[in-house]
Amino acid sequence: MKEVRLRFAPSPTGYLHIGGLRTALYNYLFAKGHGGKFILRIEDTDRTRYVEGAIENLIASLQWAGIKYDEGVFVEDGKIVQKGDFGPYIQSERLDIYREYVDQLIENGYAYYCFCSKERLDKVREEQKIKGQIPKYDGLCRSLSLEEARERIANGEEYVVRLKLPANRDIKFKDLIRGDITINTNDLDDQVLLKSDGFPTYHLAVVIDDHLMGITHIVRGEEWLPSTPKHVYIYEAFGWEKPTYVHLPTVLNKDRKKLSKRHGDVSVEDFRKKGYLPEALVNYLALVGWTPEDNREILSMEELIEEFTFERVSNAGGIFDNDKLDWVNGNYIRSYDLDKLTRLAIPYLKDAGYIDDGFINERFDWIKTLVETVREGLSYLSEIVNKVDIFFADTVEPENEEALEILKWEETPLVLKALKEAVDEVEEVDMEFAKKVMKTIQKSTGVKGKKLFMPVRVALTGANHGPELVNIIYLLGKENIIKRIEYVEKNHI
Ligand code: GLU
Repeated sequence: MKEVRLRFAPSPTGYLHIGGLRTALYNYLFAKGHGGKFILRIEDTDRTRYVEGAIENLIASLQWAGIKYDEGVFVEDGKIVQKGDFGPYIQSERLDIYREYVDQLIENGYAYYCFCSKERLDKVREEQKIKGQIPKYDGLCRSLSLEEARERIANGEEYVVRLKLPANRDIKFKDLIRGDITINTNDLDDQVLLKSDGFPTYHLAVVIDDHLMGITHIVRGEEWLPSTPKHVYIYEAFGWEKPTYVHLPTVLNKDRKKLSKRHGDVSVEDFRKKGYLPEALVNYLALVGWTPEDNREILSMEELIEEFTFERVSNAGGIFDNDKLDWVNGNYIRSYDLDKLTRLAIPYLKDAGYIDDGFINERFDWIKTLVETVREGLSYLSEIVNKVDIFFADTVEPENEEALEILKWEETPLVLKALKEAVDEVEEVDMEFAKKVMKTIQKSTGVKGKKLFMPVRVALTGANHGPELVNIIYLLGKENIIKRIEYVEKNHI
């Protein structure tokens, strides 16, 4: 059987859009699920849209997300390199190849030279619009003979090459999600294949590359669906077997609008910065428009590879729901390896000015306990900054009436004094001490339960609920505990 080969073919125009990541992911899942190969090709033939550094960004985002490809464009030691037997994988390095195939199309009557100026094309389009027609090329240069065209080229005239579509022919293809599709050539334009700058258009390059690179399944966004009949015709013109097409419904926001920068985060980098875990983002994105048979919602990459099929991709458009993503991410945060999670959380704590490199080196375990203590309530990692502020504040105020009330209880002064004394007696408040100290002061004061715990919680954190008291005591340490109790004694008792 033919080897399954899929590709992700982004244009380097900036960042990787979250919808693009989902396309890459579905390609990857299908390729891996079928023992196939996944290829990264860079489609940079539109030089006006090229953005410096975009290739590196794209690759970094894919790598972060754990989407591994077998061939194509990679970054090694900060340099762009290409690997695989079907290269080059950057379209701007394949211009000679396109030229050769365009010549073949022209020779065989499937394409023609066009010398129409921009002014003429604009005028034609204007007139068609006035007449209520769909603007398209009027075919003026179709009838030029090849000799005549070659002469004009020899005379230095600028030209493009256009696809010569036959009139009134149905072009048929099957899409795995959309089913059978038929488009009549009368509704299509004689697409430019080669531009006057010698670069191919996307339409030409994509077909030639997909064929030469042995691509068996083309999985891409549905915005390319209207272009597909032209591609299919080009395959036929070359006499090539066409691939299987899969056009993915667009990722929409909750208002069923296209996800755009104006409405919040759209780039993979935005999500990474906010502190979404790659496993969670990938897990959630897989569910935007697809569901596994058993409707499970938490799936690892291996499970996704196992479960994924195009048959279960809905054709109704995938809704990207931030709340759902937060829920999935929260799940991963709670079950993530604590060491790894701590390393990911550290940059946020550092940026907030809570810790510095020296502290990180010396007190990694303390930071680990800090992360463990607050991770329960996190939807994404940057939220940690607000969640841990109580551990870094100089003093804390009771946060509400109820907390204030607790400080007025009859037992409160006794309990706080006992804690202060117990803490004062030891050199350091370590975990072992933190685990025992409440028992100790229960014994020495005779106060227990709520009456014992709540005053301590409020004095140390200002809040009447929150993380484990043992962790709070350990994390605050000797000096902070004494300082906070003294502050409360002076101001609230
Ligand atoms: N270069 C196109 C894009 O950036 C790829 C479309 C395709 O996959 O054919 O979306």
